[in-house]
Amino acid sequence: MRDVSPEVFLIARPAIDWAEVERYLAAVGGTEWRERMAALGDRPDGESLIEFMGRMCYRSWTPGLNPNVTKVRRDSAAYLLNVLSSGHGSVLEHATYSFVFHNVSRVFTHELVRHRAGTAVSQESLRYVRLTDIPFEHPAFVRDDPALLEAANDLLERTETFLRLATEKTGITEDGVPFHRKKEITSAMRRYVPDGVATSIGWSANIRAIRHTIEMRTHPSAEEEMRRVFDKVAQIMADEVPALFADFERDEDGTWRTPHHKV
Ligand SMILES: Cc1cc2nc3c(=O)[nH]c(=O)nc-3n(C[C@H](O)[C@H](O)[C@H](O)COP(=O)(O)OP(=O)(O)OC[C@H]3O[C@@H](n4cnc5c(N)ncnc54)[C@H](O)[C@@H]3O)c2cc1C
Repeated sequence: MRDVSPEVFLIARPAIDWAEVERYLAAVGGTEWRERMAALGDRPDGESLIEFMGRMCYRSWTPGLNPNVTKVRRDSAAYLLNVLSSGHGSVLEHATYSFVFHNVSRVFTHELVRHRAGTAVSQESLRYVRLTDIPFEHPAFVRDDPALLEAANDLLERTETFLRLATEKTGITEDGVPFHRKKEITSAMRRYVPDGVATSIGWSANIRAIRHTIEMRTHPSAEEEMRRVFDKVAQIMADEVPALFADFERDEDGTWRTPHHKV
């Protein structure tokens, strides 16, 4: 048994091809917006991408391009806050971020995959990857009680002993064993391992889905590990694209709340 705890890695984010954006803006007379963006310095591309898509809808690069538009919001953060408060959530779907959640339990992954809209998932396969030990995070009530901790460790060690015995008895590590046989045994062996076993899952989601999942999974009624991991996700995203999370407030207990529910 190996003591582990969940880790969050943000491994990918949007990148704008500004030369192509400039070519488009020159074609529609929206170059002034590009100049305003450049003056902001190194603003995150996720925010600029969403602003770009929003402004394209109304030609609101500069006043007069759309004869119905006589003034435009020049402040990007205010523009994005207006997108959120007016519930124009579909433009948030253009910016996608990829995370790896490492050393999370299968309890966590079961719950995470229920979020389908705007997400993509790749999960470590415990059909292919044979467990030799059990990475695990004990819950606090077990960690804090020596008798419970000893009993829990004993349970996990006995499972590990079973895994070693099953490997030995089936001979799957011997030369020449076809991979489909290894897979069959590996898949059957994982059934004896608890839901708490730590694993990895890749999760890509757009801003609309990330906001929704943060709100649901940091709520006090959500599962404890989900709350901890999504508190980290929320903190990372609030640093990464502050204007897209400016409406959220974090309570001391890690609950993230927004008045713009379900944008
Ligand atoms: C505290 C808590 C307790 C839970 N307990 C249980 C439980 O006991 N049993 C259980 O099975 N699940 C449980 N769940 C999971 C829950 O029911 C949802 O499946 C999960 O949270 C995914 O959220 P979502 O439905 O908003 O889906 P998402 O995929 O995150 O969708 C986001 C939004 O898009 C829209 N949407 C998505 N798919 C569709 C669709 N097919 N049709 C129309 N609109 C759609 C909805 O507005 C939805 O809210 C629990 C979740 C929480 C947070």
